[in-house]
Amino acid sequence: GRYTKQDVIDLVRENDVEFIRLQFSDLFGTMKNVAITARQLEKALDNKCTFDGSSVDGFVRIEESDMYLYPDLDSFAIFPWNAGGNRVARLICDVYGQDGLPFEGDPRNVLKRVMVECQKMGYKFNVGPECEFFLFHTDEEGRPTTVSHEKAGYFDVAPLDLGESARRDMILNLEDMGFEIEASHHEVAPAQHEIDFKYDNALRTADNILTFKFIVKYIAKRHGLYASFMPKPITGVDGSGMHLNMSLWKNGKNIFADSKNELGISDEAFYFMAGVMEHANEMCLITNPLVNSYKRIVPGYEAPVDVSWSPSNRSPLIRVPAARGSGTRLEFRSPDSAANPYLALAVSLAAGLDGIKRKLTPGKGSMKNQYEMAEGEKQKAGINTLPRDMKEALEIFKQSTYMKELLGDHIFNKYVEAKSSEWESYQQFVSQWEVDRYLYKI
Ligand code: ADP
Ligand code: MG
Ligand code: MG
Ligand code: MG
Ligand code: MG
Repeated sequence: GRYTKQDVIDLVRENDVEFIRLQFSDLFGTMKNVAITARQLEKALDNKCTFDGSSVDGFVRIEESDMYLYPDLDSFAIFPWNAGGNRVARLICDVYGQDGLPFEGDPRNVLKRVMVECQKMGYKFNVGPECEFFLFHTDEEGRPTTVSHEKAGYFDVAPLDLGESARRDMILNLEDMGFEIEASHHEVAPAQHEIDFKYDNALRTADNILTFKFIVKYIAKRHGLYASFMPKPITGVDGSGMHLNMSLWKNGKNIFADSKNELGISDEAFYFMAGVMEHANEMCLITNPLVNSYKRIVPGYEAPVDVSWSPSNRSPLIRVPAARGSGTRLEFRSPDSAANPYLALAVSLAAGLDGIKRKLTPGKGSMKNQYEMAEGEKQKAGINTLPRDMKEALEIFKQSTYMKELLGDHIFNKYVEAKSSEWESYQQFVSQWEVDRYLYKI
């Protein structure tokens, strides 16, 4: 590991840290915090800090509510700002039950389990996410809107742009927090941005995604803006995705690269890809969890609609980016930032490993733009479509014994319960689209 207990204690003392946030994720990837003072640090490092699990979405009932936080020492980081004059640090934690066992409802635990399986197969899994987001204005009461005054397009350079200076500030703060920022740019839609940080092992990356979203939102607020990772906040323009770039490594070498093979990628890379394609629809409720997620994965906006792959174009589910050598990777393009990153990475890795175990093959890559292919043509090519809405994704998920086994009964059941009631609520809501379309006509 990076830090010992004593290192953390020393770092807190040397840097005058007064508060430590013990962080963990609920079922839906919302970051939860239990704040302690520096004086309680040793107790926390002895895994003795508790919280009320019944107050967390998807956790436990009142009767068994005391849960324990086991800090991951390597996750120690000091926030780059002073909150009310105090220095604040954080430790990301695993959740344990009173029985001293990892809590089956802890999403971080699910990812760790799949990573152990990966390790047993002899691989290390690296992931680099591309989180897109919008910067919106807030109203007089400080509530977020979907309004922005920005007209810049993809890669545009806008000299006097509020969004640009917010993004610069985000990057500086992320770097202070230990992120290696590789690129950042304006995205396709007005007020849409992307900041890319370097890939890491799946656990670190999932932790990073939660931290990234927190910092982006925090800094946006300081600039009087609201950062939203909502998959499709505005009708008619590109939505925000979270492409997952994935590779497997052995002895420090990227084993997705193979110069002797077709396209310069290895058999394992093809098997892995086929595994993700095989399970794409079952895991869609995890990678694209919201009613709104399905309004992003529609034709015409650089988001996938079909279960297909391509060595080049940007409409299929999986793309093989041009980089080779250590940069060789598969880009899984359907996930969005509403996904719980621990669960999204866990199901992606498990699917890929399943592909390797079963030596699945992905079929011929599609050079065609999927949006322009006719339905009949797709069927002939054996191309399946992704679920069209959350209801379809939920039905497929509910039928999947594969997903149930992978996630465990607790998470699977809680997830189905929550998503079913989300759909019911949506289904009963009369939207503006319906009023506009029907009121005057009928
Ligand atoms: P795109 O061309 O799709 O816009 P980006 O340059 O925005 O891609 O993002 C690339 C991401 O892929 C970064 O997070 C980067 O760290 C990550 N990446 C690069 N090489 C690998 C690799 N071998 N395995 C996993 N992720 C990688
Ligand atoms: Mg990108
Ligand atoms: Mg985009
Ligand atoms: Mg992008
Ligand atoms: Mg991408």
